[in-house]
Amino acid sequence: MIVMSWAKTHFTHPLVLKSCLNRSGTLMHVRARNNWADLSYEDRKVDSERVAGIYTRLYWNNPAFRERRKQQATAWNAARKHSEEYKRYHALRRWCLNYPWVRDELPWKSHRPILYQERTQHTCFSCQWDRRSGMKLWWKAIGGKGDAGFLCQTCYARQDWNTAMPTGFEDLRRLNEIAARKKQLDEAARSVSSPPKA
Ligand SMILES: [Zn+2]
Repeated sequence: MIVMSWAKTHFTHPLVLKSCLNRSGTLMHVRARNNWADLSYEDRKVDSERVAGIYTRLYWNNPAFRERRKQQATAWNAARKHSEEYKRYHALRRWCLNYPWVRDELPWKSHRPILYQERTQHTCFSCQWDRRSGMKLWWKAIGGKGDAGFLCQTCYARQDWNTAMPTGFEDLRRLNEIAARKKQLDEAARSVSSPPKA
């Protein structure tokens, strides 16, 4: 049983005043200001990092909390597995990590997948989360300049299939179908540029 107890917080920062586990084992935060939208990007970042720190400490120090979090994660993953967003995230990731022609030769619409040799740090333009340990796969805005043009894999895959898939490939969900469509489109383009002589 999880006992209601205030987690020790040694914060001088005014955002999170204190945190506690409620009776159902959910971690609650008392914030000095609750209107997230009014906070500056820097304040939000500080707040998120501190809350993440509380979670990490509780996870490792409180076995009941840890068990509950594991159960929640299992349930969440099981529910998410059937979602289109989950399928899209993993399909795009798998294709982009393994097949250079997917990254370089398909007519991507707004962003092109970039695979770095090493984990590389950018700030995602959408979630504004600069992943400190970096990521190998990023989506770079076509024609975009500098860091403003990058999306993380999570934000890119959050778009619907129609927006996320390359032009002419919107209805496809399998790699072999994508390869076949590419061949077909390439052949059609070739015959237009050099029509067979009569
Ligand atoms: Zn993002």
